[in-house]
Amino acid sequence: MSTKCIAVLTSGGDAPGMNAAVRAVVRSALSFGMRVYGVKRGYNGLLHGDIEEMNMRSVSDIMQHGGTALFTARSPEFNTPEGVQKAAEMCRSKGIDGVVVIGGDGSFRGARDLTDAGVKCIGVPGTIDNDIACTDYTIGYDTALNTAMEMIDRIRDTTESHDRCSVVEVMGRRCGDIALHTGIATGAIATLVPEVSYDFQTDIVDRMKAAQATGKKHFIVVVAEGVGHTQELTERIQKETGIESRATILGHVQRGGSPTLRDRVVASRMGYRAVQLLDEGKGNRVVALKGENIVDFDITEALNMPRTFDEELYRISARLSI
Ligand code: ADP
Repeated sequence: MSTKCIAVLTSGGDAPGMNAAVRAVVRSALSFGMRVYGVKRGYNGLLHGDIEEMNMRSVSDIMQHGGTALFTARSPEFNTPEGVQKAAEMCRSKGIDGVVVIGGDGSFRGARDLTDAGVKCIGVPGTIDNDIACTDYTIGYDTALNTAMEMIDRIRDTTESHDRCSVVEVMGRRCGDIALHTGIATGAIATLVPEVSYDFQTDIVDRMKAAQATGKKHFIVVVAEGVGHTQELTERIQKETGIESRATILGHVQRGGSPTLRDRVVASRMGYRAVQLLDEGKGNRVVALKGENIVDFDITEALNMPRTFDEELYRISARLSI
């Protein structure tokens, strides 16, 4: 039997493009003849009935904005067997038989549990970190990359004027994708990621000295959040190379801002697919981008997939940064 009344929520860390996904879910559902509810503050809203019916106009003028118009939260209360049952009861009391959950791996675990409790859920990957194994791309990643690149370009202007070294920490939790891509795009002399171990002397100091010998006077080092110790590393670079070095931790600036075209389009496609799956009566699936195709996987299978890192691109990056 196809699902006739669904809800949509955003959960975990916010990401630019979540609004485009919410809009796509609401408009697709209405176009399929379903009723659709918006749930505020993730699983918290489901537990406490913070749920509103949406119409075509409920999602007007949200796509170009960062953040999430539905708000987001982390909900320890939901993350218990009683919490999941309570959320399932709330769905039943409102006649909601399917939920689209836009978030990361943690949110997908919640979606799996809620499906087991009788409410069909579909996960849509939304996080700037690009750290979800089953998909090549997560909503928000492209905007975060472009923001980080622009910020590092700005830092480079001042780094260049003073013949300094700037060590810039970018986000990504345990995933080095933001660092790898911004490192290439900004010409970093070294890029440190959690997936690849590094040697301070050969991968940083020797590279900087070799580049200095060819006339290079200013340097960018990009460090992934998962590597950390950015301030310490910066002090050590200054001590070992004699080059004045400054640390910048970009932080939450990477989570905000108007989503790029790519984030809006991928989010729209993923949101549509999620509703299509519910319309087909399916649940416990997660939507993904593979190459340029939208696909879907069983949530448990998706959660068990090993994450891959583009080591070839990492090697190319090291060759170009001299
Ligand atoms: P993300 O979805 O970005 O990975 P979190 O890991 O914080 O973010 O998860 C978001 C919410 O999903 C949590 O606050 C919790 O309510 C729910 N959740 C996380 N892990 C689980 C789990 N193992 N089982 C059930 N629900 C979970």
